[in-house]
Amino acid sequence: MFCKSNEELDTLVNDARKVASLGKVADYIPELGKANGNDLSIAIHYPDGNCISAGDVERKITLQSVSKVISLALVLMDRGYQYVFDRVGMEPTGDPFNSIARLERANVAKPLNPMINAGALVVTHMIKGNNVEERFQRLLNFIHDIADNRKIGYSTNVAQSEFETAYLNRSLGYFLKQHGLINEDIEQLLGLYTRQCAIEMNCLDLARIGLVLAMDGVDPSSGKVIIPVDVARICKTFMVTCGMYDASGEFAIKIGIPAKSGVSGGIMGAVPGKFGIGIFGPALDEKGNSIAGIKLLELLSKKYRLSMF
Ligand code: GLU
Repeated sequence: MFCKSNEELDTLVNDARKVASLGKVADYIPELGKANGNDLSIAIHYPDGNCISAGDVERKITLQSVSKVISLALVLMDRGYQYVFDRVGMEPTGDPFNSIARLERANVAKPLNPMINAGALVVTHMIKGNNVEERFQRLLNFIHDIADNRKIGYSTNVAQSEFETAYLNRSLGYFLKQHGLINEDIEQLLGLYTRQCAIEMNCLDLARIGLVLAMDGVDPSSGKVIIPVDVARICKTFMVTCGMYDASGEFAIKIGIPAKSGVSGGIMGAVPGKFGIGIFGPALDEKGNSIAGIKLLELLSKKYRLSMF
């Protein structure tokens, strides 16, 4: 086991927390602005069921963009590779997550990848179900299976707060509808997307999800395949190429593990074949990644040689 004790993690968390004051909590979703920028916690989940942690790991956070990896896995299982990638691309953009610029420059207004908001809206649109409620429940049940926790729900406050202020996502949605990539009511889709982003869990659950991806989609405690190996592989590849917004290249060089961040300050990491990581640190850097969370991963990666490259 690479890092055995909570004490070892405590030391690293205290070091990493020093940079939190250089970041800023996201407030474009008003509810997220209430977070304490100084918070930092981490959980590491091993395949043998062992879990180590530091900081207030019981604190719940909303998934925000971390949810994009899980909705992608679900639609790949629902619709298959061809259907999904006919509608959303595989290339990193180098642009901010909510940018509209490239959609207009492309011949077909197909979003470049499923990790940017335009791509994620198309992915959420593809979740199967007879109505919005059923689609949301299917996503939530899938998350219950991966995290092995049926208590996970969503924050109505955060969902509502984002729904009321999601002007940019609304414009992306209408743009994509105009170009035939979405054919449902955009307000309805936004209702589903904002609930997806507001799914709430603690770092332990987040680490458990990272673990299942790290183990190629297999739940190590039951041996059950929750995510087919090819789907898990695609998810991890997107995490490497576009999981950390337009800082994914630097992250791959400095840290070198598949990871996905969200504007709530969450980071979900999957160290292939080894363990899952869940981090919460709401102060963000200028790219939108948890500033202390990245520092913490940098310290861990250096100390324990985690880079897969
Ligand atoms: N719900 C957020 C949005 O669409 C997610 C963004 C993120 O975490 O990157 O703006």
